[in-house]
Amino acid sequence: MSTHSSTAAIYPGAGDRIEVATIEVGAPHRGEVLVQIKASGVCGSDRHVLEGEWGVPSPTVMGHEGAGVVVELGEGVTGLDVGDHVSLVWNQACLTCVACQSGKPWACTDLRSNDCVMPDGTTRLSLEGADAYPYLAVGSMSEFAVVPASAAIRMPRELPFEVSALIGCSVHTGLGAVSNNARVIAGESAVVIGCGGVGLSIIMGLQLAGAHPIIAVDRNAEKLEIALAAGATHALLADDETAVRIQELTEGGADVAFEAIGNPHTIPQLPGHVRPGGRAVLVGMPPENAMIPFDVLDLCYRGITVIASNYGGGVPARDFPRYAALYLAGRLPLDTLISKRITLGEVNDAFNAMRSGAEARSVVVFDESDV
Ligand SMILES: [Zn+2]
Ligand SMILES: [Zn+2]
Repeated sequence: MSTHSSTAAIYPGAGDRIEVATIEVGAPHRGEVLVQIKASGVCGSDRHVLEGEWGVPSPTVMGHEGAGVVVELGEGVTGLDVGDHVSLVWNQACLTCVACQSGKPWACTDLRSNDCVMPDGTTRLSLEGADAYPYLAVGSMSEFAVVPASAAIRMPRELPFEVSALIGCSVHTGLGAVSNNARVIAGESAVVIGCGGVGLSIIMGLQLAGAHPIIAVDRNAEKLEIALAAGATHALLADDETAVRIQELTEGGADVAFEAIGNPHTIPQLPGHVRPGGRAVLVGMPPENAMIPFDVLDLCYRGITVIASNYGGGVPARDFPRYAALYLAGRLPLDTLISKRITLGEVNDAFNAMRSGAEARSVVVFDESDV
């Protein structure tokens, strides 16, 4: 039982930049584990915090898409050992409420993750002697993190940590939206609006499901190149003609369309991209309190199903290892998601790149040394 000093990316509670500082990470309590983080993706949900769009307690240790190695077990932890490689879950479900027992941990009614605390309501992190809060109860932009053991999913040792980290958020979100929420079947036509980490994961899921065509839309030509490498059959640079081009390519609308940005301007356009009887799937997370208008008569008349997806509607303990196995078998090209490997000090640059829409996914990688 010991405390670790840990270099971490901190959101101080104001402004739109993170600061790199040294925090103290306490020993894991009962049912928790200490993880040495090896990789942490830079995800849009972190950016919502920096933009002031999602309120969180501060100072906040950022990062919720992480992977690493278990270095210490709290009391009573079973099923994990020191040395295990793990991918972290940001939706730290209780596993005992009705939703959890119904196979819907994303709908857990006893969730503390959004409060950025452990299940007992406290934090193991401190900055200059005061409490600090792990973002979504993960805080993976830090050399060390404490998480509930149930939120650390054991992964194969041969899986690269960068890939393991992305499975923890964007991959689980994107592939799950395809298979769990939209239940896409072979031969269905699909449109994906936004080709960041989540959108590209949706495209990979669509390819696995046998969808065709798979139409990728983005305002950045480089991301469209990646989308084609990830399995898209068509790539459209977003402009005033996008909706018409989608109609032409799908002969009147896709079977299913996904919005992977959370943009209040692109979300209301989504039902217009699908044919009568089709599905419009909301995957990207908008700012808090975003009110988005839909033409309800059009939805009803054309029988459009709007599906809201949270964390891919999946089960991390079941799905993370499946995605790892598909990657290791060469069936899921997750390396294409990673546009850049960066240090903690470069995280602000990565958020700026995200704001400009320039890159798919930056991943913070941590030094292999010091445990
Ligand atoms: Zn995320
Ligand atoms: Zn629960």
